Amino acid sequence: MRAVRASLVFVALLLAVSACAGDGRPVDLANVTSVERPTPVGAEENPPASSGTSAPAPDCDPKASFRPDGALPPAGQMPPRTTMRAIQDRGQLIAGVDQNTFLFGFRNPTTNALEGFDIDIVRQIAKAIFGDPNKVQFKVVTSAGRIKALQEGDVDVVVRTMTATCERWKDINFSAIYYTAGQRLLVDRGSEVTSLDQLGGQKVCAAKGSTSIKTIAANPAKLIPVQVDNWSDCLIMLQQGQVAAVSTDDTILAGMVAQDPNLTMAGPRFTEEPYGIGIPKANVDMVKFVNGVLVKTINDGTWAKSYDKWLGQTGGSRPAPPTPVYRD
Ligand code: GLU
Repeated sequence: MRAVRASLVFVALLLAVSACAGDGRPVDLANVTSVERPTPVGAEENPPASSGTSAPAPDCDPKASFRPDGALPPAGQMPPRTTMRAIQDRGQLIAGVDQNTFLFGFRNPTTNALEGFDIDIVRQIAKAIFGDPNKVQFKVVTSAGRIKALQEGDVDVVVRTMTATCERWKDINFSAIYYTAGQRLLVDRGSEVTSLDQLGGQKVCAAKGSTSIKTIAANPAKLIPVQVDNWSDCLIMLQQGQVAAVSTDDTILAGMVAQDPNLTMAGPRFTEEPYGIGIPKANVDMVKFVNGVLVKTINDGTWAKSYDKWLGQTGGSRPAPPTPVYRD
């Protein structure tokens, strides 16, 4: 009896094998269109409004920073008892940056080095302190992690497409503005959508902790905000058809368009996003120093060179660098 069963199993196996071998075509193909596409880790739909401190942001001019104190000290000779001297003595500037935003802060896949407009700014600060633009320890921070990294003293500066807002000024200081971006919309090429108002009931992606996600959530058309940890997660969700659009700064969206010609920016800018360098609240001396570095970077043509290198490839003409505004 056992022998009969064994030979039946053998015959069944033979039939199964011949089903594949037959005329050379595989059988029983899995229905690949039904495979579920993975959602980026941490993606959240309709997130609760950010907890934050409940007090409203005080009225302020978020673009106004602290005036530099005269000429910059020579590199390698930071004045005693200053934040800059402590950084010089440590031997490295510690900078919070992004590694997922092509053109501003991204990892070059062939060299593994961090590159982009924001990374160039970090190197200018290091050059002013040490005379060497490479004396930097980069720490990758998410949009949502920027303020905490500064408050906990994990980094000396955050240079990460960060909009200076009155709400953020409550917790940290900002340098003068080094770039002015604006929020726009990214959609599939061929889409008719040109504004957030047309996306009622649809999913729109932005990073957690960004000004962009708040603007999406506040739109009266009642969109479904989808928040993720990294901008590259939004790009993937749009490419996989999991969201109808991405909406954030035109700078970040330009980097996505450069990576995927099937996408396009639609409609005009609908916010102003002035970028400042984040600095811990206590380090006003560092803010003044960094503002001196920004003036030098703009005046000696370094800003324009960096703009041409990273944003020149996105078309359009180079804007004038922002004019610094100070509090006094
Ligand atoms: N500039 C916006 C912000 O600071 C969006 C960019 C980002 O989060 O990286 O929130």
